[in-house]
Amino acid sequence: MTLKGYFDYNATTPLSDAVKAEMRHAMEVFANPSAAYPAAGPARALLAQARQNVADLIDAAPEQIFFTSCGTEGNNWALQASCAGAPGEAAIVTTAIEHDATLAAARALGQSQGRPVHVALPQSDGIVRADAVARASAGPVAVYSVMLANNETGAIQPVAEIAEIARDRAVPLHVDAVQAVGKMPVSVRALGCDCLSLSGHKFHGPKGVGAMYVRDPGTFAPMMIGGGQERGLRPGTENLIGIAGLSAAAAEARALMDPNAARNRENRKRILDGLRRQGVAFSINGPADDARILPNTLNLSFDGLRAEALAMRLAHLQGIAVSLGSACSTNKDRRHSHVLVAMGLPEARLVSALRISFGRYTSQADIDALVRALADGVAHLRQLSGAA
Ligand code: PLP
Repeated sequence: MTLKGYFDYNATTPLSDAVKAEMRHAMEVFANPSAAYPAAGPARALLAQARQNVADLIDAAPEQIFFTSCGTEGNNWALQASCAGAPGEAAIVTTAIEHDATLAAARALGQSQGRPVHVALPQSDGIVRADAVARASAGPVAVYSVMLANNETGAIQPVAEIAEIARDRAVPLHVDAVQAVGKMPVSVRALGCDCLSLSGHKFHGPKGVGAMYVRDPGTFAPMMIGGGQERGLRPGTENLIGIAGLSAAAAEARALMDPNAARNRENRKRILDGLRRQGVAFSINGPADDARILPNTLNLSFDGLRAEALAMRLAHLQGIAVSLGSACSTNKDRRHSHVLVAMGLPEARLVSALRISFGRYTSQADIDALVRALADGVAHLRQLSGAA
């Protein structure tokens, strides 16, 4: 498959051929997996295989995997479940760079339960230090919720260090791994988290299906109340076709992890080298160290122009899709990315920031076309604004 001009993989990814095939197969598997008769066997087998494939991708046991509708649901559930048994004065501690599926959910929950919400700030490279999370609340804490990789900058967060703090204080840790899973190796055991959310459409699975890892399902509060599906924790007849797609996506992501990451790293370098060769001045918003950033993500600022104008030019003249930041926030009346603002970037970098994210179907020819389009667009817009 080729996907010309698409540089918004962090917003969503296309279904792979293997995922489509598995979903087509699942369309014929119609029985309710909760039914006891033999005809429901294929549906039950499909669910069991999917649970195993997702578990294998994140180094968990299948009994610790619960299917959800998306990453947003997982994040909301994690916060609600963690707060369910916590004293009223115990705070939700999260970070200023989280997705709205965590930040807005934390604020709403804090408000409805009269619970404090504390937000740890990142350094200027987009990494939230573990001690910033530790210092965010001196009082009792109900839950720590920290993302593994940021959707806008790709910055990988020191989750294992934060887990140590959480463990010392006997506070549960939720990890939003929606952007990380499928793009970098993820081990729930190495991270030491209590629950972790992921979403199928970020790694070539379908939209509208995700999963939650729960370390101790016996003590976790249900997402909603209903029947006994997902052992009563996430009731509702399972989305078998979606789960089949997630299952195939998980198996593929695991099998292709190393070559995909290597290819992404190469493409990332090709963009940076290409821009430098063309003499385009830019700054990288995010960690300088390659080991601290998702291999498929680049957040760049081009001082002296507005990112909207550049993105429009790329879209309309060259058919190239890039993002201004989080796709989920583009409809809202928000001036700048809350992530870049929290990193303390100056105005000129905030207004000129573009997120470029790529992946499995990005060719070198595509990268070269992007570099040419960026060099042309940046030169043109800087000339117009007198910044050239
Ligand atoms: N968390 C992060 C870091 C994300 O990037 C996203 C989506 O962009 C979500 C959560 C929400 O996931 P979903 O679209 O599956 O609800």
